[in-house]
Amino acid sequence: RAKTEGRDTYRYFEASMGAEARDKRIMEHELRQAVVRKEFYLVYQPQKEISSGKMVGFEALIRWRHPERGDVSPATFIPVAEESGAIGQIGDWVLDAACEEAARWENPLTVAVNVSAVQLHNPNFSRKVHETLLRTGLAPTRLELEITETALVKDMPRALATLRQVKSLGVRVAMDDFGTGYSSLSNLRAFPFDKIKIDSSFIKAVDTNGQVAAIVRAVLGLGRGLGLPVLAEGVETLGELKFLDAEACEIGQGYYLGKPAPIEAFDDLTGHGKRTPARAGHREGSLV
Ligand code: C2E
Ligand code: MG
Ligand code: MG
Ligand code: MG
Repeated sequence: RAKTEGRDTYRYFEASMGAEARDKRIMEHELRQAVVRKEFYLVYQPQKEISSGKMVGFEALIRWRHPERGDVSPATFIPVAEESGAIGQIGDWVLDAACEEAARWENPLTVAVNVSAVQLHNPNFSRKVHETLLRTGLAPTRLELEITETALVKDMPRALATLRQVKSLGVRVAMDDFGTGYSSLSNLRAFPFDKIKIDSSFIKAVDTNGQVAAIVRAVLGLGRGLGLPVLAEGVETLGELKFLDAEACEIGQGYYLGKPAPIEAFDDLTGHGKRTPARAGHREGSLV
């Protein structure tokens, strides 16, 4: 009896793995069509100077509105797109759309764009960035590329060459999700980053958890020593923001400071709102 049960369990397991692989193949196929069908769009999340509450820029985050499944999280589809190679086309679209949008803003806010490993290891990447800047007219200094450590490890010399090329254009690069990779410190030394983004897992309860507070203080010290501004990701409460302000963390991003939203929600910050007098009364409040 035990034998039969075991076999059934195995069969069940096998069947479910088959279904998973099939779902992935379907998604790969749909992702390739999604660019053409214009199912992707960008939302923008504010990045603010903590001491003043002043807006400094936006991070562009991709969204996929699937015709049947509705909004699919990038955490679900980006890994599939990376594996299947569709990320090349998707990444081009993101860079293009974000630069085009930012070039229209009246305020010279920065736009941060996430770049995946596959894009970074494409020898044409820096040329693409250059062409996009020329075509959209966006000043290179207003573009920031967010790169995670895992994106660097595949071919470090290649990644380093690409980072140097984009930096020579005047584009800035930020290390995303700092602290979650394999060798954050050596990567920080080996690559010419302009900013450190502390991962949200270290910001959660930073004001009440002594252990994470110690880690965040150390990263802030690291940033000061290296002359790099530090951005705290995932700021969700006033308590966390106050802690970061007291510790002189330069920049914050998170639901407490502003949720990601379609750019129209920020008309007052981008200057688009000047055309709609109804929004003229809005003011930017102090944070702390
Ligand atoms: P990320 O680059 O670290 O982006 C930050 C993520 O944290 C975003 O999730 C954002 O919505 C979320 N977030 C922001 N504030 C808070 C907060 O206060 N609390 C919590 N719990 N979460 C917050 P999202 O948009 O789902 O994106 C997830 C990841 O998918 C991104 O992490 C990035 O790695 C990837 N991704 C998003 N857009 C793109 C893209 O255009 N290209 C590539 N290659 N990857 C992208
Ligand atoms: Mg990011
Ligand atoms: Mg991040
Ligand atoms: Mg992330």
